[in-house]
Amino acid sequence: MCGIFGYFGSRNAPEVILEGLKRLEYRGYDSWGIAVVADQISLSKKVGAIGDLDTVNNLPKSKVGIGHTRWATHGGISETNAHPHFSSDKSFALAQNGIVENYQNLKSKLQKKGYKFKTETDTEVIVRLIEEKLKTAKDLKEAVRQAFLVLEGRNTIIILSKDGQIIAVRNGSPLVVGIKEGEVFFSSDTLSFAP
Ligand code: GLU
Repeated sequence: MCGIFGYFGSRNAPEVILEGLKRLEYRGYDSWGIAVVADQISLSKKVGAIGDLDTVNNLPKSKVGIGHTRWATHGGISETNAHPHFSSDKSFALAQNGIVENYQNLKSKLQKKGYKFKTETDTEVIVRLIEEKLKTAKDLKEAVRQAFLVLEGRNTIIILSKDGQIIAVRNGSPLVVGIKEGEVFFSSDTLSFAP
């Protein structure tokens, strides 16, 4: 287990996401991270327990962002392996819950095409696969859809683009969406929507 939380709305996203991740803590995790968009995507990733607001004070005020608590399955517990993960050009950041069962096969195909990997995670394979699909897909949403169809295993992914979109997909792993006037929430469970 582990968690995903996303937010779009009028409140300050780093703060709302931090609170959301705290309500997902009971699911277990070893590291965590938040990505938000202001002029560009900014990331904050940490190993260990979720801190208070000053642990994310490097993040700008923002209306949209995503957060993740990681339970490492592929790759050690480190800031580098913590999510979200940037695309090569920093045009999007991605977080995943689950396991990409066919990641070895996908990784070697992508390496043959020249893609370089910076982490030990199965997650980075999804990032590079989306980059590959973006070469021909009409937009990011379509590239994400095409990449997700190739993944084996139970997965939820959430993507934040630098133009402020959130794209989320799930297959066999939880994700719920909460909609309120002017605000949209994404989470691994409805409990985190209680307040
Ligand atoms: N398989 C991914 C990793 O090890 C995600 C684990 C999770 O669900 O938190 O980074």
